[in-house]
Amino acid sequence: MAGVDWDEDDPFEEQREQAESPMRRLIFDFGRPYWFSMTVGLISSVFARALDLLPALLLAVAIDSIFGEQAFHEQVPLSVLPEAWLPASETEQFVFVVVVVAGSFVLGAVFHWLRNWGFNSFSQDVQHDVRTATYDKMQRLDMEFFSNKQTGEMMSVLSNDVNQLERFLNEGMNSATRLIVMVFGITFLLFWLNPQLALVSLAPVPLIAIFTYIFVQKIQPKYAAVRSSVGKVNSRLENNLGGINVIKSSNTEEYESDRVNDVSRKYYNTNWDAIWLRIKFFPGLQVISGIGFVLTFLVGGYWVLMGTAPGPFTGTLETGVFVAFIMYTQQLVWPMAQFGQVINMYQRAEASSERIFGLMDEQGRIERDEDANEIEVRDGRVEYDHVSFSYEDELQDSGDDDVDVDGVGDGDGDDQTPYEDLIIDDVSFDVDGGETVALVGPTGAGKSTVLKLLLRLYDVNEGAIRIDGQDVRDVSLASLRQSMGYVGQDSFLFYGTVEENITYGTFGADREEIVEAAKAAEAHEFIQNLPEGYDTMVGERGVKLSGGQRQRVAIARAVLKDPDILILDEATSDVDTETEMLIQRSIDDLTEDRTTFAIAHRLSTIKDADQILVLEDGRIVERGTHAELLQNEGLYSHLWGVQAGEIDELPQEFIERAQRRHARTEISDD
Ligand code: ADP
Repeated sequence: MAGVDWDEDDPFEEQREQAESPMRRLIFDFGRPYWFSMTVGLISSVFARALDLLPALLLAVAIDSIFGEQAFHEQVPLSVLPEAWLPASETEQFVFVVVVVAGSFVLGAVFHWLRNWGFNSFSQDVQHDVRTATYDKMQRLDMEFFSNKQTGEMMSVLSNDVNQLERFLNEGMNSATRLIVMVFGITFLLFWLNPQLALVSLAPVPLIAIFTYIFVQKIQPKYAAVRSSVGKVNSRLENNLGGINVIKSSNTEEYESDRVNDVSRKYYNTNWDAIWLRIKFFPGLQVISGIGFVLTFLVGGYWVLMGTAPGPFTGTLETGVFVAFIMYTQQLVWPMAQFGQVINMYQRAEASSERIFGLMDEQGRIERDEDANEIEVRDGRVEYDHVSFSYEDELQDSGDDDVDVDGVGDGDGDDQTPYEDLIIDDVSFDVDGGETVALVGPTGAGKSTVLKLLLRLYDVNEGAIRIDGQDVRDVSLASLRQSMGYVGQDSFLFYGTVEENITYGTFGADREEIVEAAKAAEAHEFIQNLPEGYDTMVGERGVKLSGGQRQRVAIARAVLKDPDILILDEATSDVDTETEMLIQRSIDDLTEDRTTFAIAHRLSTIKDADQILVLEDGRIVERGTHAELLQNEGLYSHLWGVQAGEIDELPQEFIERAQRRHARTEISDD
């Protein structure tokens, strides 16, 4: 579908390209359930506009036959009716005209009301459905989508783009029907009343069409610039508000005000550019339509005044018809002026629906088999079998590019992998049911990624992950995630009560179970001390809980869920030693008899794990228990030495490795 090139750096360019016939789907797929209101809107709109045309016609009749000389039934507009239906006396004719005019106003009001009801309810219903469907689809997309898009950009699809569709379905459709009915209706009436004068009156119409076309061509790139600059303003503001701590502590308010000023000024300029064109366009259009009006006035006036046809024209022109012509040419100007806007609205709606439907068509990397069986967790044995993974989903064109850039890779260095940047490289390990495995290693080593693969936020490129012998790709995603509990480093709380946050995902739990879980998570005490206990509102706009408190709410959530497999991603980072001790106690209870994966920087928290895996550059470089690893004299034992205060610094060899790694890291995670 050919779209408008609104914006070169549209973050949804990819989605827009893959959207197939978005406008058709908008109107037919989403509009179908609401066909009734749409039909009412369309038909009423046509009638309402047609009735708008009636008064001028009746005025012509009144002037020419009641106040003038012509026979009532011979009037062009009345000649369609049988003579017997029409009143004979002048008074009756006058009453007839007044009644019809009054009736047309009343009926017109009813139709306008129906039209408003139809178009508004249609557009609101469709807007609601599109928004919820888009959100529904969006939240099911792979994590990859979210890590590549900024929150603001996604919000803009869910709000701006959806609103754009609503505007088009309501105002756009309304203006379009008005345009069509008025232009065709008036053209028809003028030709019917006097085809010769109609040619004069309508002469500027092609000119208006050309003029509008040029305007639309010129304004499009300007709107694109506006869209892009408003995006930049939003990004800057969002970024600054997010980093307000840094701004204040670096005392850079003035600098940031200048930067905001810059982007805002650019927005002003691009917007002004578009406004300037627009405010030149409308008077221009008025001048062109004015030409039609003046020509009609000139030719028609002369015709009526002289009683004979001027120039090449023939026949007579009645005063009433002349007046109708003057009124109609006036009525034609505004719908014609809106022609550009209707096109503009359509194109914007098209661009928006391309983004929306492109998003709905988004194919994730994770293949979902809707008929997959539920996972059956018996012992909770987890097996990583030669797992490799890269965030890049593109296969390399050829094997030419050296994958193993630094040559640090161990052993089988010549295994050419088709993936550009392996984050997890041939990782294998087994965890028996109920065991705790700890993942340690430097930042960026791939620890979180190993766990994301288990949760199937991403699919492995090679190898397999099995739970009790079942490949995670072969079971239903919902049952897989239901079997796992996750406590991350930054525990997010939803705006709601403490209780709602604990029961999040286990909605049926009763108060007793909730308190039980909170006790197990060492959270009960502090929750009781909150102003309204378990009913205290927390999260954004609610009572602010400390990092450690949030963490314990998250742990209570995990306790309540009672998952088969527990994932702790630096669950005790960012808390003081005392809180850590509390959390650790609750975690120890939780991990007992449950397969647990724990990522930790502070090695003291995982030293009792049944198995410790040391990751570096996506590979397991050491494995064993705490005691075994200490004997190894490898990275682990040295890190332990530093953390326990036994040695001051890592040996040179490890520091050099870290430096090399840091120099290489292009994208660093949080
Ligand atoms: P760790 O948990 O050991 O700190 P991660 O698993 O978070 O390491 O990250 C491993 C590597 O993967 C890092 O180089 C990081 O930059 C990269 N990475 C993490 N998340 C993404 C992502 N969503 N897209 C691309 N690269 C990522």
